[in-house]
Amino acid sequence: MYQTLPGTLHEANEELKKVSYKRIATEEAFCPPEMLNIYREMLDKKLLNDPGFNTMFGFYLGSDSLRAKQIRDYLTDLGELRISHMDQRGIDMQVIGLTSPGVQVMPAPQATSFAAYANDVLSDACRKHPTRFAGLAAVAPQDANAAAKELERSVTKLGLKGAIIHSHTFGEYLDDPKFWPLLEAAEALDAPIYLHPQVPPPAMIGPFLDAGLDGAIYGFGVETGLHLLRLITTGVFDRFPKLTFVVGHLGEALPFWMYRLDYMHRAGVVAKRYERMQPIQGKVSDYLRRNVYVTTSGFAWEPAIKLCQEVLGVERVLYAMDYPYQHDVAEVIATDDLDISDEVKKMLFQTNAETVFKL
Ligand code: CA
Repeated sequence: MYQTLPGTLHEANEELKKVSYKRIATEEAFCPPEMLNIYREMLDKKLLNDPGFNTMFGFYLGSDSLRAKQIRDYLTDLGELRISHMDQRGIDMQVIGLTSPGVQVMPAPQATSFAAYANDVLSDACRKHPTRFAGLAAVAPQDANAAAKELERSVTKLGLKGAIIHSHTFGEYLDDPKFWPLLEAAEALDAPIYLHPQVPPPAMIGPFLDAGLDGAIYGFGVETGLHLLRLITTGVFDRFPKLTFVVGHLGEALPFWMYRLDYMHRAGVVAKRYERMQPIQGKVSDYLRRNVYVTTSGFAWEPAIKLCQEVLGVERVLYAMDYPYQHDVAEVIATDDLDISDEVKKMLFQTNAETVFKL
């Protein structure tokens, strides 16, 4: 076992308080080792003309750095190593999904079959550790009908709690009607879709890559926020009113933008300024409050968490850690120490997750 990352684990575990709630972390990643082999082959044979993927997995698979080694080892473990890290960080339960970009960089047939394999692996682990792990299904939007079937199998037969989709699929977004069979299935199953970041697609990544900002620092969030906003303004939630999305990183900044999004959307529609900006039934903020939950992954920061609780409602904000990419015990302590009531804290760490994912 490797040493922990600098700053990821304080020496004194007893700094963690005994608390009266369960800490349920809702954006936690895993990866079957076979997926890393597939990625390695894609890199070696230059199969993918995707600078974001090639940069990110060039690092995670090619680097001898401690961080890259740890990420590879921690992602591929669904047993005692993961549970020991959860224990050290006071995490009672992880809601686990296939790591980004999952199967969404594979050709459709391979993506569909690998998603099913990953779901079998994850659901086995959840059955083995039912009090510690819950899982989200991988799906391959490349074949939306197959993805709809896989989501149904995952939820009804395997006991998984929803789907995880890593934002765009080859530069295409879920508001495209070709993906709607998948959205229809999610709504019918009452299964939330966790819209998780991946690197911006080739058409977007240039100026991010130039400045080293394509990854988690900014590019992930901007691209995923754009994706969620597209779903709202193109009327996806008018068509599927009961569809539920969960979005990490405190909603990828959209809660902070709410006032301006409402104002400018209305102004644009009224002025008929943009051919493609069509009226929708509600305001942008209505959909954020009705169809969207946000998690605190990567954001152990009181002002931003409180803003989300204030503008979305305390029932819409869930705790997440982002293991193994970010798993600093100091962040657990900071979130335990939020200046909010005990009742709201329990919602944040436990009961909202139990409600959304039917744990
Ligand atoms: Ca993540």
